[in-house]
Amino acid sequence: MSDASGHVEKREFSAEVGRLLDLVVHSLYSDREIFLRELVANAADATDKRRFEALTNAALALPDNAAIRIDPDKDAKRLVITDDGIGMSHDELVENLGTIARSGTRQFGEKLNDAKPEDRPSLIGQFGVGFYAAFMVADHVNVTSRKAGSDEAWTWSSSGKGDFTLSPATRSTPGTEIELSFKDDAVEFLDPWRLRSIIRKWADHISWPITLKEKNE
Ligand code: ADP
Ligand code: MG
Repeated sequence: MSDASGHVEKREFSAEVGRLLDLVVHSLYSDREIFLRELVANAADATDKRRFEALTNAALALPDNAAIRIDPDKDAKRLVITDDGIGMSHDELVENLGTIARSGTRQFGEKLNDAKPEDRPSLIGQFGVGFYAAFMVADHVNVTSRKAGSDEAWTWSSSGKGDFTLSPATRSTPGTEIELSFKDDAVEFLDPWRLRSIIRKWADHISWPITLKEKNE
Protein backbone atom coordinates (compact mmCIF):
# COMPACT_ATOMS: atom_id res chain seq x y z
CA MET A 1 0.00 0.00 0.00
CA SER A 2 0.94 3.62 0.25
CA ASP A 3 3.66 5.13 2.34
CA ALA A 4 4.98 8.60 2.88
CA SER A 5 8.54 7.85 1.79
CA GLY A 6 8.06 8.84 -1.82
CA HIS A 7 6.92 5.53 -3.26
CA VAL A 8 4.46 5.55 -6.08
CA GLU A 9 1.47 3.31 -5.59
CA LYS A 10 -0.15 1.91 -8.71
CA ARG A 11 -3.82 0.92 -8.86
CA GLU A 12 -6.25 -0.35 -11.46
CA PHE A 13 -9.53 1.38 -12.21
CA SER A 14 -12.49 -0.75 -11.20
CA ALA A 15 -14.19 -2.43 -14.18
CA GLU A 16 -17.21 -0.15 -13.88
CA VAL A 17 -15.10 3.00 -13.86
CA GLY A 18 -13.12 1.71 -16.84
CA ARG A 19 -16.31 1.20 -18.84
CA LEU A 20 -17.63 4.65 -17.96
CA LEU A 21 -14.35 6.29 -18.85
CA ASP A 22 -14.45 4.66 -22.26
CA LEU A 23 -18.02 5.71 -22.83
CA VAL A 24 -17.52 9.32 -21.80
CA VAL A 25 -14.31 9.76 -23.76
CA HIS A 26 -15.48 8.10 -26.97
CA SER A 27 -19.12 9.06 -27.31
CA LEU A 28 -19.17 12.77 -26.56
CA TYR A 29 -16.66 14.10 -29.02
CA SER A 30 -18.79 17.03 -30.17
CA ASP A 31 -19.58 18.14 -26.63
CA ARG A 32 -16.12 18.15 -25.18
CA GLU A 33 -16.41 21.66 -23.74
CA ILE A 34 -18.51 20.28 -20.88
CA PHE A 35 -15.30 18.98 -19.26
CA LEU A 36 -15.03 22.44 -17.72
CA ARG A 37 -18.60 22.46 -16.44
CA GLU A 38 -17.94 19.17 -14.66
CA LEU A 39 -14.64 20.23 -13.08
CA VAL A 40 -15.98 23.63 -12.00
CA ALA A 41 -19.11 21.97 -10.55
CA ASN A 42 -16.91 19.60 -8.53
CA ALA A 43 -14.79 22.50 -7.29
CA ALA A 44 -17.94 24.38 -6.23
CA ASP A 45 -19.40 21.29 -4.51
CA ALA A 46 -16.14 20.83 -2.59
CA THR A 47 -16.10 24.49 -1.54
CA ASP A 48 -19.75 24.28 -0.40
CA LYS A 49 -18.89 21.17 1.57
CA ARG A 50 -15.99 22.86 3.35
CA ARG A 51 -18.17 25.86 4.22
CA PHE A 52 -20.78 23.50 5.65
CA GLU A 53 -18.29 21.49 7.71
CA ALA A 54 -16.72 24.71 9.01
CA LEU A 55 -20.05 25.52 10.70
CA THR A 56 -19.26 22.84 13.27
CA ASN A 57 -15.46 22.87 13.03
CA ALA A 58 -13.98 26.36 12.88
CA ALA A 59 -10.55 24.93 12.02
CA LEU A 60 -11.86 24.15 8.55
CA ALA A 61 -12.94 27.74 7.81
CA LEU A 62 -12.57 28.87 4.22
CA PRO A 63 -10.10 31.63 3.37
CA ASP A 64 -11.75 35.00 2.70
CA ASN A 65 -10.70 34.86 -0.93
CA ALA A 66 -12.06 31.36 -1.57
CA ALA A 67 -12.43 30.93 -5.33
CA ILE A 68 -12.20 28.57 -8.24
CA ARG A 69 -9.13 29.45 -10.30
CA ILE A 70 -8.63 28.49 -13.92
CA ASP A 71 -5.14 28.87 -15.30
CA PRO A 72 -4.60 27.98 -18.98
CA ASP A 73 -1.20 27.77 -20.66
CA LYS A 74 -1.54 27.24 -24.38
CA ASP A 75 2.21 26.98 -24.99
CA ALA A 76 2.51 24.19 -22.45
CA LYS A 77 -0.85 22.70 -23.62
CA ARG A 78 -1.96 22.65 -20.00
CA LEU A 79 -4.85 23.82 -17.85
CA VAL A 80 -4.89 23.96 -14.05
CA ILE A 81 -8.08 24.29 -12.00
CA THR A 82 -7.65 25.03 -8.30
CA ASP A 83 -10.18 25.21 -5.48
CA ASP A 84 -10.18 25.92 -1.74
CA GLY A 85 -12.66 23.15 -1.08
CA ILE A 86 -12.78 20.26 1.36
CA GLY A 87 -10.07 18.30 -0.49
CA MET A 88 -9.57 14.55 -0.63
CA SER A 89 -7.52 12.18 1.52
CA HIS A 90 -5.46 9.38 0.00
CA ASP A 91 -8.32 6.91 0.36
CA GLU A 92 -10.91 9.36 -0.97
CA LEU A 93 -8.80 9.93 -4.09
CA VAL A 94 -8.73 6.16 -4.66
CA GLU A 95 -12.45 5.71 -4.06
CA ASN A 96 -13.84 8.84 -5.68
CA LEU A 97 -11.63 8.91 -8.76
CA GLY A 98 -10.85 5.27 -9.38
CA THR A 99 -13.14 2.77 -7.77
CA ILE A 100 -16.71 3.88 -7.28
CA ALA A 101 -18.69 5.14 -10.25
CA ARG A 102 -20.78 8.02 -8.93
CA SER A 103 -24.53 7.97 -9.28
CA GLY A 104 -24.77 10.63 -11.97
CA THR A 105 -22.10 9.04 -14.09
CA ARG A 106 -23.52 5.56 -13.81
CA GLN A 107 -27.05 6.61 -14.78
CA PHE A 108 -25.64 8.60 -17.62
CA GLY A 109 -23.69 5.61 -18.89
CA GLU A 110 -26.76 3.41 -18.87
CA LYS A 111 -28.86 5.96 -20.77
CA LEU A 112 -26.15 6.86 -23.23
CA ASN A 113 -25.76 3.25 -24.31
CA ASP A 114 -29.33 3.24 -25.64
CA ALA A 115 -29.57 6.84 -26.86
CA LYS A 116 -29.68 7.86 -30.51
CA PRO A 117 -26.84 10.24 -31.42
CA GLU A 118 -29.25 13.17 -31.84
CA ASP A 119 -30.54 12.66 -28.29
CA ARG A 120 -27.12 12.74 -26.71
CA PRO A 121 -26.76 16.49 -26.20
CA SER A 122 -29.93 16.67 -24.11
CA LEU A 123 -28.81 13.65 -22.11
CA ILE A 124 -25.56 15.40 -21.40
CA GLY A 125 -27.57 18.32 -20.06
CA GLN A 126 -29.62 16.08 -17.78
CA PHE A 127 -26.79 14.09 -16.24
CA GLY A 128 -23.46 15.20 -14.94
CA VAL A 129 -20.87 13.09 -16.68
CA GLY A 130 -18.46 13.75 -13.87
CA PHE A 131 -14.74 13.94 -13.34
CA TYR A 132 -13.92 11.53 -16.17
CA ALA A 133 -15.01 14.20 -18.65
CA ALA A 134 -11.48 15.56 -18.10
CA PHE A 135 -10.20 12.75 -20.31
CA MET A 136 -12.22 14.04 -23.27
CA VAL A 137 -9.68 16.86 -23.64
CA ALA A 138 -6.67 15.64 -21.66
CA ASP A 139 -4.39 12.68 -22.23
CA HIS A 140 -3.02 12.97 -18.71
CA VAL A 141 -4.55 14.28 -15.50
CA ASN A 142 -2.88 15.01 -12.15
CA VAL A 143 -5.07 15.70 -9.14
CA THR A 144 -3.20 17.04 -6.11
CA SER A 145 -5.35 17.36 -3.03
CA ARG A 146 -5.04 18.16 0.64
CA LYS A 147 -8.01 17.39 2.83
CA ALA A 148 -9.06 20.30 5.07
CA GLY A 149 -7.90 19.51 8.59
CA SER A 150 -4.95 17.40 7.43
CA ASP A 151 -1.32 18.25 6.59
CA GLU A 152 -0.96 15.43 4.08
CA ALA A 153 -1.31 15.94 0.36
CA TRP A 154 -1.44 13.32 -2.39
CA THR A 155 -1.24 13.36 -6.15
CA TRP A 156 -3.52 11.08 -8.14
CA SER A 157 -2.22 10.69 -11.65
CA SER A 158 -3.60 8.90 -14.70
CA SER A 159 -3.78 8.74 -18.46
CA GLY A 160 -7.29 7.34 -18.16
CA LYS A 161 -6.30 3.97 -19.55
CA GLY A 162 -6.64 1.18 -17.04
CA ASP A 163 -4.67 2.45 -14.11
CA PHE A 164 -3.73 5.39 -11.93
CA THR A 165 -1.00 6.15 -9.42
CA LEU A 166 -0.86 7.85 -6.05
CA SER A 167 2.19 9.57 -4.70
CA PRO A 168 2.90 11.83 -1.72
CA ALA A 169 2.77 15.54 -2.51
CA THR A 170 2.90 18.89 -0.78
CA ARG A 171 0.30 21.64 -0.77
CA SER A 172 0.50 24.72 1.44
CA THR A 173 -3.28 25.03 1.84
CA PRO A 174 -6.25 22.63 1.81
CA GLY A 175 -8.09 22.11 -1.46
CA THR A 176 -7.60 20.50 -4.81
CA GLU A 177 -5.60 21.28 -7.92
CA ILE A 178 -6.39 19.52 -11.18
CA GLU A 179 -3.77 19.70 -13.90
CA LEU A 180 -4.83 18.66 -17.39
CA SER A 181 -2.25 17.94 -20.10
CA PHE A 182 -4.19 18.59 -23.26
CA LYS A 183 -4.54 16.40 -26.33
CA ASP A 184 -3.20 18.06 -29.47
CA ASP A 185 -6.69 18.19 -31.00
CA ALA A 186 -8.19 19.91 -27.94
CA VAL A 187 -5.92 22.94 -27.54
CA GLU A 188 -8.71 25.21 -28.87
CA PHE A 189 -10.20 24.94 -25.37
CA LEU A 190 -7.15 26.73 -23.95
CA ASP A 191 -7.96 30.01 -25.69
CA PRO A 192 -9.03 32.52 -23.02
CA TRP A 193 -12.00 33.72 -25.09
CA ARG A 194 -13.16 30.13 -25.54
CA LEU A 195 -12.80 29.42 -21.83
CA ARG A 196 -14.69 32.61 -20.99
CA SER A 197 -17.57 31.66 -23.24
CA ILE A 198 -17.72 28.11 -21.81
CA ILE A 199 -17.77 29.53 -18.28
CA ARG A 200 -20.56 31.96 -19.22
CA LYS A 201 -22.56 29.18 -20.80
CA TRP A 202 -22.18 26.45 -18.21
CA ALA A 203 -21.00 27.97 -14.95
CA ASP A 204 -23.07 31.12 -14.63
CA HIS A 205 -24.96 29.78 -11.63
CA ILE A 206 -21.85 28.89 -9.60
CA SER A 207 -21.91 30.83 -6.33
CA TRP A 208 -18.13 31.04 -5.85
CA PRO A 209 -15.91 33.49 -7.74
CA ILE A 210 -14.37 31.94 -10.85
CA THR A 211 -11.16 33.61 -11.93
CA LEU A 212 -9.61 33.03 -15.32
CA LYS A 213 -5.93 33.80 -15.31
CA GLU A 214 -4.76 35.70 -18.36
CA LYS A 215 -1.23 35.36 -19.64
CA ASN A 216 1.48 37.44 -17.92
CA GLU A 217 -0.63 38.01 -14.87
P1 ADP B 1 -20.23 13.62 -8.73
O1 ADP B 1 -19.79 15.07 -8.75
O2 ADP B 1 -21.54 13.41 -9.43
O3 ADP B 1 -20.23 13.01 -7.36
P2 ADP B 1 -17.78 13.23 -10.19
O4 ADP B 1 -17.30 12.14 -11.09
O5 ADP B 1 -17.88 14.57 -10.80
O6 ADP B 1 -19.18 12.77 -9.60
O7 ADP B 1 -16.84 13.31 -8.92
C1 ADP B 1 -16.63 12.16 -8.14
C2 ADP B 1 -16.30 12.49 -6.72
O8 ADP B 1 -14.94 12.93 -6.62
C3 ADP B 1 -17.11 13.63 -6.10
O9 ADP B 1 -18.34 13.16 -5.58
C4 ADP B 1 -16.18 14.11 -4.99
O10 ADP B 1 -16.30 13.28 -3.85
C5 ADP B 1 -14.81 13.89 -5.59
N1 ADP B 1 -14.25 15.11 -6.18
C6 ADP B 1 -14.15 15.42 -7.49
N2 ADP B 1 -13.59 16.66 -7.66
C7 ADP B 1 -13.33 17.12 -6.41
C8 ADP B 1 -12.74 18.35 -5.91
N3 ADP B 1 -12.33 19.33 -6.72
N4 ADP B 1 -12.61 18.48 -4.57
C9 ADP B 1 -13.03 17.48 -3.73
N5 ADP B 1 -13.58 16.33 -4.14
C10 ADP B 1 -13.74 16.14 -5.46
MG1 MG C 1 -19.35 16.11 -10.41
